[in-house]
This record gives sequence, C-alpha cells and structure tokens, in this order.
Amino acid sequence: MIKSSRFFTLLATATLIAGAPVVTVAQRASVADTVLVCGKILTMDSEDRIVTAVAIRDGHVLATGSDRDVRRFVGDDTRVVELKGKTVIPGIIAAHCHAVGVARNALDQPHVELLTITEVQDWIRGRAKSLPAGTWIRVPRADITRLKERRHPTPRELDAACTTHPVIFTAARKSALNSLGLKTIGVEAEAGSIPGGEIVRDSEGNVRLIAGASSHLRTFMPRPSFATEQVQASLQNVHQHYNAVGITSIFERAGGIDDFVLYRRLRDQGKLTVRMTQTFRSDFRTAEDVTAYTKRLGMKTGDGDQWVRVGPLKITVDGGIHWGNTYLSEPYGEKRIRFYVHKDPTYRGDLNYSEQQMTEVFRAGHKLGWQWCCHVTGDAGVDAVLDALEAVHRDHPNIASRRFSLTHAYFPALDSVACAKQLGVCVDTQPSLYFKDSSAIAEVYGPDWAARFIGLGDWLRGGVPTAIAGDHMMGLDPDHAMNAYNPFLMLHVAVTRRNREGDVHGERQRISRLAALRCLTTSPAYLSFEGEIKGSLEKGKLADLVVLDRDYLTCAEDQIAKIQVVQTMVDGRFVYDGRK
Ligand SMILES: [Zn+2]
Repeated sequence: MIKSSRFFTLLATATLIAGAPVVTVAQRASVADTVLVCGKILTMDSEDRIVTAVAIRDGHVLATGSDRDVRRFVGDDTRVVELKGKTVIPGIIAAHCHAVGVARNALDQPHVELLTITEVQDWIRGRAKSLPAGTWIRVPRADITRLKERRHPTPRELDAACTTHPVIFTAARKSALNSLGLKTIGVEAEAGSIPGGEIVRDSEGNVRLIAGASSHLRTFMPRPSFATEQVQASLQNVHQHYNAVGITSIFERAGGIDDFVLYRRLRDQGKLTVRMTQTFRSDFRTAEDVTAYTKRLGMKTGDGDQWVRVGPLKITVDGGIHWGNTYLSEPYGEKRIRFYVHKDPTYRGDLNYSEQQMTEVFRAGHKLGWQWCCHVTGDAGVDAVLDALEAVHRDHPNIASRRFSLTHAYFPALDSVACAKQLGVCVDTQPSLYFKDSSAIAEVYGPDWAARFIGLGDWLRGGVPTAIAGDHMMGLDPDHAMNAYNPFLMLHVAVTRRNREGDVHGERQRISRLAALRCLTTSPAYLSFEGEIKGSLEKGKLADLVVLDRDYLTCAEDQIAKIQVVQTMVDGRFVYDGRK
C-alpha cells in the first residue's frame, strides 16, 4: 500500500517534472493577448456567422465564438475588451486609392471640396489674402459633374474674385483663367494661339477656356518637390485617417518603384498602420516594355509579405467621365459635347491602346507571372479590354486564374458582365462617384446611363467578384475628399442607391448589406489573392478588425453613411481609438 502510494507519488512527480515545460508552452499558446467579448461580430466567413467574441494572439485570430468559448483564452496578461453589444466587422480593404498622391498633395495645399462657382470665388478670395500678389492661385480640383452650375467659371467670374493674382481653374482637361492669368501665360484677348493647346472662345470671340497646353501651363506653375521624410510623415498621416474610418489594408492603384520602396521603409521602421498591395502602372505598349519593366523590378505579383505586397501591373486604357473622354459605345452627341466643350458630336471618347497592343502586353505579363488590371471606364473600353483578354485566353486558358481586374468599369452591360465572368475577371468600382456624379450623368448622359452607372447589382448577379473603393486622390476629409473614401458612404450607396441629392438611378443595382460589406472585405482580399489571410475573422487569419458605434445590419438605412468607427485594430494592435 505504502509502496503503491509512493509509486504514484513518484509517477506524479515525474509527470510534473517531465510535463511541466510542455504544459506551460501549451498554456501560453492558448492565452490570448486580447479578447473582445459581449459584441456582435460579423465574421464574414463562408457561412456569414455572427459570434459574440474573438480572441487574438500574435497578430492573428486565435478563436471566435461565444463569450464562454473565448474567455477560456483569457490569462493574467490578457486585455479584455467589453464590446457592450457593439458591432465588429473585419478590417476594411480599400481596393483603390492613391495614398502617396494624397500625401504629396497635402504638402502642397489643402484640398477643399467646392460645389458652386460662388464657393470657388470665396476660396480664391481667401487664398489671395494669404499669398503675395502675383503668386499663382490654383483652384483645388472641382469637377464640372459636381459643380452646381455644371460648367467652368468664366474669366469674368474669376476676375470678380481676384485681379491681384493669376488664377487657374482646371477641369475636364480645360482651364479657365482670370485676366491676369491669361496675360501671364501669353494669351491675348483678341487673337493668338497657345503652344500644345487651343484657345476656346465664346460666340463673341472672348477667351473662355484653354484646352490642353498642359506642359506650357506647367512652366508657369512648376510642381513642388518635397523631401522623402516629408512625404513619409504625410503618408503616415493619411494612413491614420484611413484607420479612423476602419481601413486596415489598401491597394495603391498606380504606383512606381519609389512608392514601393517608401512603403518598405515604413514597414521596416514599424510605422505602417495599413497593409499595402501595390499596383504598378506604366505606359506598356509592347511585350519588350513589360519584360524590361518587370526585370527592373525583380519581383512579381504575390511577392512581399503581409504588410507590403506586389499587386498587378496596370495600363490606362481610356479616359473618364470627369475628363470628358470615357470611351463609349455611342457617339457623345450634342448634350455631352456641349457639357465637355468638345466640338465633334461623333466623338466616342479616347481609347489609348489598340486591341493588338493590349493582347501583346497582357500576354507578356501573364507569361511572367503577373496579374493585370486596367483603368477603363467606358462600356466600349471594357469591351475592348475583354476582347484583348479573350485573345490571350485562347492560347493561355489559365489567364482566368489570374484575377484580371477592371478598374472603374462604370457602365456594365450584361453581355460584358457574362464575358468577364467567363474570363475570371474581377472589378473594382466606385460608389462614391455614384453618390456625387450620378445626377450629372443622368442629365448629360441620360437616365439609362445613370441606371447602369457603378452597377453593383449587375456585376454581382453576373457572378463577378467586385470590390468597392473610393479612388481617393486628394484631401483628408473622408466624405469631402477627391474622391470620398468613407467606406460607410460606399455601403450606403450600395445598399440604398441614393445619391447626394437623394435620388435613385437604377433600383436594380441595390445590393444587400452583407453583399455590400463583402465588397469591402472578402472580395478585395480575393482580388489580391489574400483570401486565406484576410477579409474575414476566422481562426488563423490576420487580426484586423473594426468596432462600430452602431449595428450595421439593423440600423435604419439612412444611418449607414453615419456609422462611426470606435476602434480599429491592425495586426492585433489598436491603431485607432475614437473614444479618446
Ligand atoms: Zn485611381
């Protein structure tokens, strides 16, 4: 008996000694750094599971489930966040932005959204007070689709605001200048010409606008340059603004190698608060262009890590609705010609590449392991891209696995949607443009075009993976930047199809709240081949999440755009806390 008892004691001691470190490691591995409990967590997993708690360890999701399930992972040092019923969503992936451009622009001059010619005049008056006389005043970009008057200001209206400084207002590839501005660039009232451009006159022969002439104009207004450290600090500030609206990952949609290096430096210094996938844009015309460029980069799609990653190559196939050169399936006609101050009513927009050129560069990139995306806005532009891709597909059927992305694709047509689906093509498109531009599209292009504009319903019903994003270019205000980047404004548009004026164009384009949220989470993750690590809150995925101030799924529709972010977590760390 004694023997036996001793035996058991010995056994227990042996187990304790041999097992001690093992147990400790196992225990440590199951202790969370942070747990969030008592919430409504939309995991966005394949079953759209909603849970109340999530545990996080080492920047990853350790577990999701009930409060009781997750409290098992609480240890002495675990931070416990009581959500008190608040909604949590996966970190938002903004599939289209130009954060480095925003950062540079912010160093140049603050962007202000100007919606009427009176507001433009007031802004000029304010600027004139702060700048020495004679200094150029450049009005922040204000598109004529968004200005109430739907036109450029006249030289006389600009004179009414300022005669002491040369003033320039540029929209739709045409500039309006005040009298001093015209004199400074050498344009006389009566006659004359301008290098690389054209003087547009009204019926009485007065100068109305300068078309083109961008390099001539730039000689008077050279672009400012900034030290790398300044750009870097400004970029970090942009990222913090993103975190404040729940953005945890971005696609830089038109960068170069310098931008990539800048991001890598931020990563190395531990200063990144968003993850970045970069799109490399260049004017690729031939297979040799693609080979030379990608050889210089020495990387390909998918290279990098969870912070800084190589995305696709990009070309700019057509123009846009703001510039007046989106490539359409029909002639612009009198209305559009008058609006954009063009001349030829048979004009259909600009197509920058032949089908043959596109086929050649897509094929070359594909062979080298690259994904592609194209800036393409008009419906005929989209068809041209799909024709080229179809030609590549004939020799290389596996191009369908490359998740080619149409960027913008404003006016989906059902046969193009079907073709895109067949070729494995994805879309990133901009509900924030619908919010601000659809009234002008309805007036100038017509109601049928407005009903297709940013047609999320058509894309999703056609089975095309679709990401929504802002195409953020300048300004830091989430709702009033060029372009608005507030994800909740995008969800509002996707769900309600209401624009800034409260009008609905194309009821059929409305999508459900969950489908809309997928366009900001799982779909962009799919576009960048990162569905295994982000886009949803599941065990093993990155701990990027957002705590909201109200329930996205049940709040009134008119509240969706007003949702505020309470906290944003990236890599298991809170990078934004709105309660402070
Ligand atoms: Zn863009």
